[in-house]
Amino acid sequence: VNIEVVCTGDELLSGLTTDTNSPYFMSKLFELGEMVSRSQTVGDVREDIIAALKAVNGRANAVLVSGGLGPTADDLTAECAAAAAGVRLVEDPAVLESLRARFAKRQLPLTPNNARQALVPEGAEVVHNRFGTAPMFIQRVGRCTLFFVPGVPREYKALVDAEVLPRLAKMIEGQPNRIFRAARLLKTVGIFESHLDAAVKPLAKAHPKVKFGFRTHAPENHLKLLAEASSQSEANEALAKADRACREVLGPFLFGADQDSFPAVVGALLRDRKETVALAESCTGGLASQLLTTPPGASAYAIGSAVTYSNEMKTKWLGITEQMLAAHGAVSEEVARAMAEAVRRRCESTYGISITGIAGPSGGTEQKPVGTVFLALASADGTECQRQHFLGDRERIRQFAAYHALDMLRRRLIRSGKNP
Ligand code: ATP
Ligand code: MG
Repeated sequence: VNIEVVCTGDELLSGLTTDTNSPYFMSKLFELGEMVSRSQTVGDVREDIIAALKAVNGRANAVLVSGGLGPTADDLTAECAAAAAGVRLVEDPAVLESLRARFAKRQLPLTPNNARQALVPEGAEVVHNRFGTAPMFIQRVGRCTLFFVPGVPREYKALVDAEVLPRLAKMIEGQPNRIFRAARLLKTVGIFESHLDAAVKPLAKAHPKVKFGFRTHAPENHLKLLAEASSQSEANEALAKADRACREVLGPFLFGADQDSFPAVVGALLRDRKETVALAESCTGGLASQLLTTPPGASAYAIGSAVTYSNEMKTKWLGITEQMLAAHGAVSEEVARAMAEAVRRRCESTYGISITGIAGPSGGTEQKPVGTVFLALASADGTECQRQHFLGDRERIRQFAAYHALDMLRRRLIRSGKNP
């Protein structure tokens, strides 16, 4: 089934509103094993909407059109649908009646612009909108079925679930040569997208039914596996095989799949072991602590943090001696180790993490250029320290440093193997 999406609304083109409707529909559709072939957004411009509808009428089997069904002057969708199909706009008595009843209930007069909402293209099937005032209608033009739904996200989602998807499911089931799909998102951290691509590329040949796609959500990189086959079990099997092969190649770079979030994965590892962590942050200003405490229930393992941005506070709070700071500088392995050990001791946590570096844009030297960050992880078994050089602007350096600190902990936890 060739399915398309048309969103209308100036607000979606001006950057005022982000289109959250389409991804909702697309992900639901994907669960039915289908993908939309095209998605477009047009402004509240009569000619543009008509042109977009004429085009989809000619090439798609099903189209979800959203927005512009309201009572205001910029709500043009119904009249454009009629114009694109070459039919008249007619008043639907049932819609008019339900509008009247709705307004009477609130003791409001039905204004002419509200009554306009009862106008639909001739021949369209009107579906009662239990979730709002704008009607939903279904129009058939040649081999194309168009579903018109309001743009208000709450109504849109409710109508997509209740009215659009069940009808599409029927269309999909009935089709010959149907393609079945299964997908998985593998999430990595600590590996460049180009390296990820190079590591996984050799697998493509052995898994011809699986498409490999890459997406960057810095500092994470995601690998999307999409298996396509002529039956669901075949697609599932191809996906499982590719998933296994990828996991082998990615090793510890892989932190999770699908809905897993990086901080939640780190948190779950700690929670399983009933272990705790405390942080001492300098250049990240609390970013790593914020990341760590993102998941609900983080209090089980995140027990405290010290943002010691100044040397003075490194001394006061963490007991880093002035001599050490003078001898090595705040951005040094010695200070990073001492910070991690001190915060662990003070918070009596299983692990202590520290981050000290130069986020820039100024403050870099030849020996320690902008992006130089020392990260330490202290535990009862000793302290490990890494010197990293993160590239990019201040925001990126801080973000990567925060992730890297938690990733040192994650790797440490998976290395130490089975949970106690
Ligand atoms: P209404 O009766 O509210 O006028 P409508 O069908 O005319 O309904 P629109 O006017 O296009 O819908 O949009 C209504 C509201 O929904 C607006 O606030 C708009 O910002 C929001 N909206 C519309 N389309 C989308 C979308 N694709 N994603 C997120 N929000 C949207
Ligand atoms: Mg509107």
